[in-house]
Amino acid sequence: MNKLTREDFTRLDQIDPLAEVRDEFTLPQDLIYFDGNSLGPLPKRTINTLETMIQKEWGDGLISSWNKENWINMPRVLGNKIATLIGAKSGEVVVVDSTSVNLFKVLTSALLLSKNRRNILSEAGNFPSDLYILESVNKMLGESYERYLIEESDYEIDKYIDASTAVVMLSHVNYKTGRISDIKRITSVAHEKGALVIWDISHSVGVMPLDLHNCGVDFAVGCTYKHLNGGPGAPGFLYVHNSLIEKVSQPLTGWMGHIQPFEFAADYQPANDIGKYICGTPPIIAYKAIESSLAIFEDVSMKVVRDKSIQLSEMMIRLMQQECATFGFELFSPRNADQRGSQVSFAHNNGFSIMQTLISHGVVGDFREPNILRFGISPLYMRYVDVWDAVICLRQIMQTDEWQSEQFNQRSFVT
Ligand SMILES: *Cc1c(COP(=O)(O)O)cnc(C)c1O
Repeated sequence: MNKLTREDFTRLDQIDPLAEVRDEFTLPQDLIYFDGNSLGPLPKRTINTLETMIQKEWGDGLISSWNKENWINMPRVLGNKIATLIGAKSGEVVVVDSTSVNLFKVLTSALLLSKNRRNILSEAGNFPSDLYILESVNKMLGESYERYLIEESDYEIDKYIDASTAVVMLSHVNYKTGRISDIKRITSVAHEKGALVIWDISHSVGVMPLDLHNCGVDFAVGCTYKHLNGGPGAPGFLYVHNSLIEKVSQPLTGWMGHIQPFEFAADYQPANDIGKYICGTPPIIAYKAIESSLAIFEDVSMKVVRDKSIQLSEMMIRLMQQECATFGFELFSPRNADQRGSQVSFAHNNGFSIMQTLISHGVVGDFREPNILRFGISPLYMRYVDVWDAVICLRQIMQTDEWQSEQFNQRSFVT
């Protein structure tokens, strides 16, 4: 293959169908941002949206805005917008609480549906919060379940699913390796064996097409502050297949999930739609930020986004081989694009200090224990030249041994 040059990257930018979408975002000059899978950037339109919301809807409208501005229906309205991105039907998604809390709710729902089955299947390498929640739900239900945590190296999840499996609970894209698990196949195998599935799509929503309803997925949860750019700590979402919504119950029975919250009835009666998963009053300022960032997605095709994501990742992997092969980086994500989400991870024993040095040069990725440099790929605002500039910067850091300086070994609380 020919040696890559910076011109190869600028040429790809010139024909990039998403090039103009970058203008939607406030990105600091000279910053190359590979951390959209941890916290997406601020959309420009969100600044005005929030200002208007605060001054007019809250400041002037006060309590009347719950009805007049339809604040009260935002969890369902935004849920329907996210539904279009993940292949869900209208009424199957609600925006509410955090991803972890949503997992708590749907895992409990699923276990209450699956009588006499005693195994929960997940992955040892799953996002820790997901495994912590699994543990506490099991405790709450009297430790009645066995947890099977499949090792990261064992891709053959199917063979662990059998007649004792109550729930298969997995991440679609692994947060560390970026490896994709096949939603369609695993869901279908689980259903053949009579098990329910819960997919965490935090790392795939907004960067690739998803088809949850047609794959028959029972439950899913996901994040809005990563690739959906909804803002720090923005509420998550949850999905329930419409064939289950009537049957399911969930453990956090607050008044906002009641069928008639403003009757202030003594007894709890759940809403007869996905709104039964709402617990308390929704944080409307945060919802407005999500609404504004979702509008950007209305004009982009998820297929085009995925194509660019793959192309950016491929160029990064090739360029790393060309420029950094001698420095001990090992590709930690799958080499095959079909098995890789929208990130490229590399293992390196000095990963932490190297990433800190990169960040000091304005190339922002992140570090995950024990030795992973993680580069999130965000097709909406990332340019191909960003990949070139980042890898060249990394090469220089390695050539000069700059990363060995003491200052790059200091850890902050958030990495
Ligand atoms: C980011 C992420 C979460 C985050 O959960 P919060 O409750 O929003 O903190 C959960 N699961 C996965 C797989 C994630 O990537």
